[in-house]
Amino acid sequence: MDTEASKPTHTLTTVALVGNPNTGKTTLFNVLTGLSLRVGNYPGVTVERKIGTLRLERQTANLIDLPGTYSLAAHSPDEMIVADVLLGQRSGEQPVDVVLSIVDASNLERNLYLVSQVLELGLPTVVALNMVDVAESRNIQIDAKELTHQLGLPVVPICASKNWGMDDLRDALSQIVDQKQHFKTTNLPHFPDALTTRVQDLTENLNQNGNPTLSNIEVFRALVDEGGYAEQRLIEQQGPAFAQKLTETRHQISDNTPLSTLESKARYDWIESVLTTCLDRPETFQATRSDRIDRLLLHSILGMASFIAVMATVFQAIFTWAGPLMDTIDGFFGSLGEQVGGFLPEGALQSLIVDGIIAGVGGVVIFLPQIAMLFFFLGILEDCGYMARAAILMDRLLTRCGLSGKSFIPLLSSFACAIPGIMATRTIEDRRDRFTTILVAPLMSCSARLPVYTILIAAFIPDRGILGGWIGLQGLTMFALYSLGTIVAILVAWILKKTLLKGEAPPFVMELPSYKVPNARTVGLRVYMGAKTFLVDAGTIIMAVAVVMWAMAYFPRPETLLATYDAEQMRLEQNLTGESLEKALTTLQAKKAGALLEQSFLGRAGHFIEPTVKPLGWDWRIGMAMIASFPAREIIVATLGTIYSLGEVDESSHSLRDALRSATWPDGRPIYNVPVALSIMVFFALCAQCMATLATIRKETGSWTWPTFTFAYMTTLAYLGAFVTYHLTSALGWGA
Ligand code: GDP
Ligand code: MG
Repeated sequence: MDTEASKPTHTLTTVALVGNPNTGKTTLFNVLTGLSLRVGNYPGVTVERKIGTLRLERQTANLIDLPGTYSLAAHSPDEMIVADVLLGQRSGEQPVDVVLSIVDASNLERNLYLVSQVLELGLPTVVALNMVDVAESRNIQIDAKELTHQLGLPVVPICASKNWGMDDLRDALSQIVDQKQHFKTTNLPHFPDALTTRVQDLTENLNQNGNPTLSNIEVFRALVDEGGYAEQRLIEQQGPAFAQKLTETRHQISDNTPLSTLESKARYDWIESVLTTCLDRPETFQATRSDRIDRLLLHSILGMASFIAVMATVFQAIFTWAGPLMDTIDGFFGSLGEQVGGFLPEGALQSLIVDGIIAGVGGVVIFLPQIAMLFFFLGILEDCGYMARAAILMDRLLTRCGLSGKSFIPLLSSFACAIPGIMATRTIEDRRDRFTTILVAPLMSCSARLPVYTILIAAFIPDRGILGGWIGLQGLTMFALYSLGTIVAILVAWILKKTLLKGEAPPFVMELPSYKVPNARTVGLRVYMGAKTFLVDAGTIIMAVAVVMWAMAYFPRPETLLATYDAEQMRLEQNLTGESLEKALTTLQAKKAGALLEQSFLGRAGHFIEPTVKPLGWDWRIGMAMIASFPAREIIVATLGTIYSLGEVDESSHSLRDALRSATWPDGRPIYNVPVALSIMVFFALCAQCMATLATIRKETGSWTWPTFTFAYMTTLAYLGAFVTYHLTSALGWGA
């Protein structure tokens, strides 16, 4: 993460961009700040913190893009951040000087709810009336001058996606930032007197008892939002007895109506009174172009068919188009390793840099094309408005396992890589839903499983057509493995929502943005940010663990063993020449690597766990490869290569395929057959062998409990799955 984001610049004015989700906040932010974006996380929570530089006529200010929210009543981490930043309650965060409140002109009524809360903060505020184009197309007319008058602050009509109205907006901001103009809002919602007085009393009371910074608004929120963050925090500050005090006060204000209902009633009354003079919209709802498209794309049969077609195209693209780029990256790191290797003297340092660091980093970077392509397609689908529809279609299926449409994008992303998938769960407000999604995301078949599947399928699954040659057996196996992960994920989610994370599927309401041509800049930024986060977050962890694994595979190096091979090498050099010498030396090098590996800590660990993996049909070497691939699944391919004394291999290596086919148990029986290959693949389909994913889960859930739980349940499932697969297929006679 960019460290710059964590040190606020104290001399600059801070402008906070606030608005409902999907009102064009990010679009406006990008237009106003250009390329000056700095991204980080708010400390302690996983909410993205975006800051950019806003250049005004005479001043430069910092613009913060706050998460989208419908209200300052905070129930999710995103909402808590918005409320905290606006109230100046986030330690280390620069207090907000000016608020830029963005509203969707085509949906003014609902948007003014948040505005009414923002006005109560008493901060200098500018309202950006966005999406005037959409409002116009629906024949909604808004009198911005009258609204300015009603609210007592500047209201500027804009269209962020078309870069329209920006000069006026900048002017209005400059006026306020330069403090040339003072606005005073007097027209505010009117709450029942009982509520207002009690809040006032309670605040004074608390402030006398040594908390002089508490504002009316915070006490109001603590009182009104039962179970919300404001209440929790106040109880933490004041001690458990305060909970009782809050409950009493609530009863004193109103015995039967929840305070939140009183609040929303007061606000909607206020909205109505404001809008009577400045809003004019057609009585009957007019079907827009988007509504007509939706008749097809949200249709229960045609919509589902289009959805499947879109997803199939995306997957096809991610897995086939990314291929050549991945090969290039692979080739680059391969030759980089060779170059650097040739430069350094043979020994531990060379091995650490070449086999540990370069190979480890290369193993991560190779997935970059797929990640970038995934974000590219997600960006396009989201920006054109389709993703919201897809989530609605999927909601019908996801509710059956206790989740909602919000889990769709995270789970979809996990097919490329669980890390961006898990990070994408930040938009899910319900904690139980979010955690369930995080815990099952690693079951989706990510691209790291592909090399494992590819080599084992190529080696052991007959290349035969079935059903009259229409479907290949190898392709079918691949499909079955992908389905396995998905089906198990659905089952696990269903069980989790019935037990550990018990709770109803929350109602899923999704704003349906109008369809439009995606914006290249928005999509480009998505790809850039996604790729960067992936590289930094995943890269650092994988690299560290790769180094540890390298050391375990490299040490110890017994003198006697080295001496034997040195002697053998000398003998060959004396007796052979030219090509035959080269060939013999290559074979010898590979044998030496294999023997050293067996001697290493990792090899010993493999022998140690052999009794445990034998019931799966595995020998110590497969057990060792399984341990070695703890940092990342795909490492197993390279490890198997080394174990079978072949030196460098990749998944298309014919020699590895042949070596696997001819490997035997001490009594001469082949180690690998169809049941063993299937058992390994099922294990890798279900296991949690990915350090970077576990670290991401730790980061997103804020504790080691959940990654530990994920690792335990997935490993158990993987073991049982492999066990059943091996014995079942052996009993069916597939091993013959
Ligand atoms: P956020 O969720 O508030 O950050 O909203 P985004 O900036 O992501 O915008 C949501 C969608 O609305 C995107 O597809 C934008 O391109 C689109 N959008 C933003 N501003 C306008 C506008 O003024 N008119 C129209 N028609 N679309 C807009
Ligand atoms: Mg946004």
